[in-house]
Amino acid sequence: MELEQIWEKAVALLADEISAVSFNSWIKPIKAVSMTDAKVVLCVPFGVNRNMIMTKYFSLIESCLEMVTSKKRTIEVIVSEDMEEENRDPLQKESTLNPRYNFDNFIKGKSNEMAYVAALAVAETDSPSKAYNPLFLYGGSGLGKTHMLHAIGNYYLENYPKRKVLYTTSEKFTYELVTAIREKTNQEFRNKYRKVDLLLIDDVQFFAGRELAQEELFHTFNALYDSDKQIVLTSDRLPTEIPQIEERIRTRFSSGLSVDVQPPEYETRMAILKSKLQAEYLQVDDDIVAFIAENVKSNVRELEGAVKRIVLYAGIKRTSLITMDLVAEAIADLMKNQQKRRITPQVIISEVEKYYMLPSGSLVSKKRSNDVVLPRQVAMYICREILDDPSFPKIGESFKRDHSTAMHGVGKVKKELDENSDLRSVIDEIITNIKRD
Ligand code: ADP
Ligand code: MG
Repeated sequence: MELEQIWEKAVALLADEISAVSFNSWIKPIKAVSMTDAKVVLCVPFGVNRNMIMTKYFSLIESCLEMVTSKKRTIEVIVSEDMEEENRDPLQKESTLNPRYNFDNFIKGKSNEMAYVAALAVAETDSPSKAYNPLFLYGGSGLGKTHMLHAIGNYYLENYPKRKVLYTTSEKFTYELVTAIREKTNQEFRNKYRKVDLLLIDDVQFFAGRELAQEELFHTFNALYDSDKQIVLTSDRLPTEIPQIEERIRTRFSSGLSVDVQPPEYETRMAILKSKLQAEYLQVDDDIVAFIAENVKSNVRELEGAVKRIVLYAGIKRTSLITMDLVAEAIADLMKNQQKRRITPQVIISEVEKYYMLPSGSLVSKKRSNDVVLPRQVAMYICREILDDPSFPKIGESFKRDHSTAMHGVGKVKKELDENSDLRSVIDEIITNIKRD
């Protein structure tokens, strides 16, 4: 039987199990994409569809599929928005400025004021001051760094339409470089990056460990800087905190102005929510907006997520009356995310991997290369320092090792800490990350 037929039959079974409204909202939009012996991949249009399926319909769909095919398979749900993003040619991906991101729709507040002022100053001038070059914007995810980067480019082009602006990400830069080397088009690559008036590079933390790209970036940077062209960079952390990056690049990154973007405080959250709700033509009472601002706190992307959900729920319920109940229902998932997660060895391991930009699973793997040994010991040390039950056998077990290895690892870090004060700040930062989420 073809997958299409199988899915049709499963859908017919599902229709009997759930209400028509839920069926239309959540089951109908699903497309079956592929099937193997072990799993069926389903595709849905939005993240909220996926959440709904994962929380409410997951096992029901699995059993219906099993009934049709007489074989137990798990399902995987992917979101088509993400799929488009991934399938797009990486060279095309974000190669241009996004006009949706501008200064007019960027809400200022205490948390981003410094960054905003610096970004606007850079965008307004065609003869950059060395004091602002490069401008280095850093801060957590979803706080508006990419937005500001595009806003700088858009604003600058409005004032200086003949100038050349290039927006790129560290990943795209690396990808293009590798392609250029393979296809022997290095010169074109160089011209493209060294003949611009304003270079915007997003997420430079991902240059970590990419030596070839760093080498090229170094020369690109110097060429632009020496001819007084503005460079703006973003990162999730300060240059000094990016691991595996050459010292000379770190120095260049830090040589201008570094400004951080903080998570929005209450007033800014209120202002952002009001502006985004208004953009959706929704009128919502202030006390309801306040309820959202009190419950969704971590970043702007989540605030936008809340607004999108409210729009969607209002659509499903065919109402334009936004009540407290509707909002509470719409953002229930988001509110759950805000609750503090319990700190387990796995949480620590995954934060340490993230910090050192190692693939997930590296620390519990058998690998003993230099790039994982210290991070693994650091993770063991943090387990010892912050877990409720930090016995060595427990720690060892979490890393698929015995207690003596855990003891040795923790001891190593302790010793290193006596001599190396940078390591203390690294560990403190990781602990902050662990406690923040
Ligand atoms: P980052 O690059 O820091 O991870 P983004 O720039 O991608 O964050 O921002 C996430 C989303 O939040 C974007 O849709 C952006 O337009 C929006 N956003 C962030 N900060 C603001 C702000 N101050 N005002 C309005 N929208 C914002
Ligand atoms: Mg970004």
